[in-house]
Amino acid sequence: MKIILFGPPGVGKGTQAKLLVEEFHSVHISTGDLLREAVKNKTNLGLKAKTYMDAGNLVPDEVVIGLIEEVLRSDEARENFILDGFPRTIPQAAALDALFEKLGIQLDNVISLDVDNEEIINRLSRRRLCRGCGRIYTITKVEADLKTCTQCGGEIYQRDDDKPEPVRRRLEVYQQQTQPLIEYYRKTNRLVPIDGMDEIGYVHKLILDAIYKDRKK
Ligand code: ADP
Ligand code: ZN
Repeated sequence: MKIILFGPPGVGKGTQAKLLVEEFHSVHISTGDLLREAVKNKTNLGLKAKTYMDAGNLVPDEVVIGLIEEVLRSDEARENFILDGFPRTIPQAAALDALFEKLGIQLDNVISLDVDNEEIINRLSRRRLCRGCGRIYTITKVEADLKTCTQCGGEIYQRDDDKPEPVRRRLEVYQQQTQPLIEYYRKTNRLVPIDGMDEIGYVHKLILDAIYKDRKK
C-alpha cells in the first residue's frame, strides 16, 4: 500500500492516516510529526523549522525533501507507506516523483480529503493532542478543559499553530501553494477525491472503498 493523503490542514489527514496504518500496518510518514519531533529534540533541523511552523508557514522545500528521502530509503517504509502532509508544493511533488523513480516505487493512490473552510477553522480550534501517545482529540464544549488523555493519562496540549492567527495563515498557504497539487495529481489518474465532512469512521470506510475499488481495476 503506497498512498499519499492529501488535503488542507484540519481535514483529518492525521486521524485517517492512523486508521490506515492500523489496517495495512504501513509506515506513517508525517512531515508535520517528523518536524515537531525535531523541534522537541532541539536538533539543528528543529531549530530551523520552528519559526516557520509557529507562524503557519511552510518549512523550506529542501529541508522536508531531505527528511522524506531519508525515511523512504528504509526497506520497510518503501514497500508500504502513508504519506501525510507531504508533498505540499509543486517542487516537493516533483522531487517525490524523482525519488520514486530512483527507488523503483509505484504509487497506488493519492487520497484527497476535502472539507469546507468554516469546518476547518472549527476543527482546528478544537483540536488537542496527547503528549504521551499522540492521540488527536476534537474537544467538545464539555471537554474544553480536558487535562489528561483518556487513553494513556498523558498531558493534553494545543499546538501553537492551531491558534487563530497561524490557522488563518495556514489556510492561505494551503490555497496558494498546496491546492495546485490537485491538478498535478489529477493528470496522473491516481487522484481519489473523498468527502471529509462525515464522521471519522465513515470517512475511513469511504477511503477503504476507494482503495479496494481501484485495486480491482
Ligand atoms: P496540518 O496538516 O494540520 O497543517 P502538519 O502537522 O502536517 O499540520 O504540519 C504542521 C507544520 O509543519 C506546517 O504548517 C508546516 O510549517 C510544516 N510542514 C509540514 N509538512 C510540510 C511540508 N511538506 N512542507 C513544508 N512544511 C511542512
Ligand atoms: Zn495519550
